[in-house]
Amino acid sequence: MSENTRNNTTSSHAASQGVGTEQTTSSADESRNDANRGGEARQKGASILIENVTKRYGGGKKPAVDQLTLEIPAGQIIMFVGPSGCGKTTTLKMINRLIEPTEGRLILGDEDVTKINGDKLRRKIGYVIQAGGLLPHMTVASNIGLVPKMLGWDKKRIAERVDELLDLVSLDADTYRNRYPRELSGGQQQRVGVARALAADPPVLLMDEPFGAVDPITRQRLQDELINIQSELHKTIVCVTHDFDEAVKLGDWIAVFDEGARIVQYDTPERILANPANEFVENFIGSGAGLKQLGLARVGDVDLISGVLGHPGQSARELVGHIDKTGYNSAVIVDDRERPIQWLSKEQLSRMTTVPSHLDKELPLVGTRSTLNDALDTMLVASTGEAVVEGARGRYRGIITVETVMNAITELRRYTPGDYTPVGNNTGEIPVTVQRTNSEASGDAEGTAGAESQDVDAPVEGDTTSSADPTGRAAGREPWNESGDRS
Ligand code: ADP
Ligand code: MG
Repeated sequence: MSENTRNNTTSSHAASQGVGTEQTTSSADESRNDANRGGEARQKGASILIENVTKRYGGGKKPAVDQLTLEIPAGQIIMFVGPSGCGKTTTLKMINRLIEPTEGRLILGDEDVTKINGDKLRRKIGYVIQAGGLLPHMTVASNIGLVPKMLGWDKKRIAERVDELLDLVSLDADTYRNRYPRELSGGQQQRVGVARALAADPPVLLMDEPFGAVDPITRQRLQDELINIQSELHKTIVCVTHDFDEAVKLGDWIAVFDEGARIVQYDTPERILANPANEFVENFIGSGAGLKQLGLARVGDVDLISGVLGHPGQSARELVGHIDKTGYNSAVIVDDRERPIQWLSKEQLSRMTTVPSHLDKELPLVGTRSTLNDALDTMLVASTGEAVVEGARGRYRGIITVETVMNAITELRRYTPGDYTPVGNNTGEIPVTVQRTNSEASGDAEGTAGAESQDVDAPVEGDTTSSADPTGRAAGREPWNESGDRS
């Protein structure tokens, strides 16, 4: 399968995630929208190959992970779903060798990392757990600066990186850098957890049910935020979830597992929804596969109604006149920065003399990055059947209606993905494509000089001056093991 095929296949979904939409580029504004942020080259994702990996705990007969081969394409989001105890966390933790595989190989980029020093490996792989996993006695800044400090960065560089990351996860650095985790909401802690995982700019991010502990609204925001971050950073993200809707929303690929980390289906959300492999997957998807497809499309992808705009202080009568001319029956009031603050019907306006200037906190508002599913929720909660759409910097973009969403469902059904799928099986078969991609370094770790394996070694800042760590390569197993790290 050519690289081209891959790109074609995923581009459609990438588009549906808002990648490349106006909102993406502009919300990732000036300071953010730069791969060279802070003057340092940023590290994109690396591919991962889990190759015929088995994990047996404590000599147990039934493996927790049974001969799993899984190809994880670089720079994409892969979601692991499946029933509790099926081996998702074990698989995830084997990628950074917090849990050591019993058998098989792990390849990161083009390097066999099965036996390399585990600590060194983990500096290249960010890890995010529920509630952020922050150290309670450390400030936000110290939590985020943990790995850079270990890597020997100087204070100034760490401080700059901390601020940059807080900005990335939409927390105001001046407000939050000196706070302690207990002074933050669950959602804020989770943001800091993501910032910490990204601190040393690793090519890979592992997330274990990261948004499981926050309320639905916060979860939706954090998911949107992750999509924003990913459209900027292009990391390889492997994320465990028990929520199929979350998998559909975030995933470029979804791996549906059954017991023993057996792959039941590994494909794009579109194809899994359209063609569940069997009843097991159907049950997992749950009811309303059609509705779930709404989780694939973004508000920014559908045609919005332009509506009528009004401004505070304007004559209400004049605005009503304007509404009449356009055939609408309401007007969205925007502030001097074009941000919607109210939505008034003709009837409401006809009882006013001037257009008021205060913010309506109940205004049904969705962003262009919101999924159609989220938009539908907002409309139903507000019982308006319509919602105001804001784009970059909260600017008014238009109005979305239930009809628009319904039309989109029909459109979505017409989606035809390409034919590329990454390999996933439990049969011991090694994918030929991956073999080829990794052929230069398909031997062992010792054969790969650090300086050559760009993808893998470059991100470990402060570590890059030496081309290979002589102690690291052959170190093999380490004090980390599964018994020390049960969740
Ligand atoms: P999931 O994350 O999908 O819920 P896990 O990977 O945590 O599943 O667990 C997979 C299986 O391995 C389960 O049967 C679990 O009980 C078992 N398991 C996980 N960790 C250990 C351990 N440290 N020792 C023994 N068994 C374990
Ligand atoms: Mg788990």
